[in-house]
Amino acid sequence: MSAAGFERVAVERGERSGRLMAVAVHSTVLGPALGGARLWDYAGDGEAVADVKRLARAMTLKAAAAGLDLGGGKGVIAAPPGPAPTGTVRRSMLLDFGDLIESLDGSYVTAEDVGTGAADMAVIAERTGHVVGLESAYGGSGDPSPITALGVLAAIRACATELRGTRELDGLRVCVVGLGHVGTHLAGLLADAGAKLLVTDIDPARRPTAERLGAAWVEPGHEIACECDVLAPCALGGLIGPDEARALRASIVCGAANNVLTDDCVAELLDRRDVLYAPDFIANSGGLISVYGELRGLPPERATEMARAIEGAMTGVLGLARERDVPPLQAARRLALDRLESEALVAAGA
Ligand code: NAD
Repeated sequence: MSAAGFERVAVERGERSGRLMAVAVHSTVLGPALGGARLWDYAGDGEAVADVKRLARAMTLKAAAAGLDLGGGKGVIAAPPGPAPTGTVRRSMLLDFGDLIESLDGSYVTAEDVGTGAADMAVIAERTGHVVGLESAYGGSGDPSPITALGVLAAIRACATELRGTRELDGLRVCVVGLGHVGTHLAGLLADAGAKLLVTDIDPARRPTAERLGAAWVEPGHEIACECDVLAPCALGGLIGPDEARALRASIVCGAANNVLTDDCVAELLDRRDVLYAPDFIANSGGLISVYGELRGLPPERATEMARAIEGAMTGVLGLARERDVPPLQAARRLALDRLESEALVAAGA
């Protein structure tokens, strides 16, 4: 199947599992399209295909903005309704997905995403070599969350410099929303850097982690109104819509979650209120950097170095935004698109 604006969109029903699965290769201008495989209970086939295309497009921007020689792509597997599949049902879906990837001749490389993990990547690897995000015991880069958290911390430092004139985080009040894989690592790094921590999670079982970190607990749903300098969304997307943008107390929004804003126009609303919204695809690019390191066989220290360099990348975005008087989200898109366009011209011999 071809789709306007995409190099390829492959949609299949798995031979073993009978489940719908799709891969969208948005762009390979900069390199192979690397993007995670999402296992999700979609309302219908159309929703799954729309999701894979939306996510693949975002991956092109993320890789370009991070300065990586990677394209943008994504995979989705439509899970059966009910609890997450396990055992032979799950295995048959993953093997089918591996076959689909193998049929794409290396244009798409998969990794973990929402609903999949390192153990799933090992099953997919039985059918294709175009997979990263494996456990370190299998030669993979392991859990990307610590590198993602390091990158978010670097992005927060850039935002702090922009608004406060210093990258030091002593006394900065940061509210981490979602104490999961990334949020817990980030909270630890922030505490070490002297920030005053506030945390929230819909899962009350995270409270002991909050206590261990010396963080104040904010009831879930109260993070927008909470008195803090930085809101660090590390849960699901869609946290800030127009109403939240008007009510927000923080002056910086910078976290790991993808698609924090319900819509791009929310970036304008935040900008008008002088709230600095750090583009999510720059702030959270440490996850991609981690699997990129695995794909290219880089030593782990190199991924750490690259994640720390997100501070410089974010500073560049904020500088451009200031210069052009546009929201940082628009500046980040411009920088990514400029890179893609100049690479496409080079490839065309112009
Ligand atoms: P996770 O599932 O480990 O953690 C998410 C946490 O958020 C959980 O503890 C959950 O209980 C909590 N949560 C969910 N809804 C909430 C709400 N409404 N309010 C407060 N807490 C809520 O996920 P993760 O791997 O830490 O990823 C967090 C976010 O960062 C996701 O959006 C993910 O797409 C994005 N991201 C993660 C990585 C990575 O390396 N893991 C890389 C890039 C982007």
